[in-house]
Amino acid sequence: MISTQVIPERSGTAFRLAKGETLTVIDPRGEQVSDLLAFNAHDLDEVISSGRTLDYAETIYLTTGHRLYSNRSQVMLEIVEDTVGRHDFLLTPCSYDTFHHFYPKLPPHRGCFGNLSAALEPHGIAPDRIPVAFNCFMNVPIDGETGKLKVLPPLSKAGDFIRFRAHMDLVIGLTACSAPDSNGGTFKPIHYRVEPMGSES
Ligand SMILES: [Zn+2]
Repeated sequence: MISTQVIPERSGTAFRLAKGETLTVIDPRGEQVSDLLAFNAHDLDEVISSGRTLDYAETIYLTTGHRLYSNRSQVMLEIVEDTVGRHDFLLTPCSYDTFHHFYPKLPPHRGCFGNLSAALEPHGIAPDRIPVAFNCFMNVPIDGETGKLKVLPPLSKAGDFIRFRAHMDLVIGLTACSAPDSNGGTFKPIHYRVEPMGSES
């Protein structure tokens, strides 16, 4: 039986995802972002790349059918199902410095960056290797004329999800995001499931 894993609010985790398996990232309550990182489990210098992916997709808004590429232009993950259709792949994980920049009056938090650093350390991945994350459910609309971006509450409702299929053996980092503006002002958990090829329901 496939069990659903829980990432508590403002925390993160890391785990292996084998080639062919699917990873479903679920927003159980709605309006909650989850940062996703992927490294080649057999060569940690190969890592998910926003720049490669957006270049090949020819769009900044990725959804079902789009592939997430590595810095070596290999497909790491493919989006096979998506009930939301709005995610971000431009912005880096929130961090202490993000809080100093945007929320100087709030207590600082290590954010997704600190949570990913801690979760990935046992896998041999140091903080300086962390790139731009694929930010599931993050809503970052862009003004096409000026390039001005905004961070608005996610469009995800309770139970919405995005499902990825792994195209290589991966180390995955995954969070329940800690930044107020990204999450509609409240912090919620994230759920996820790892399933063998062909068993997803
Ligand atoms: Zn975050």
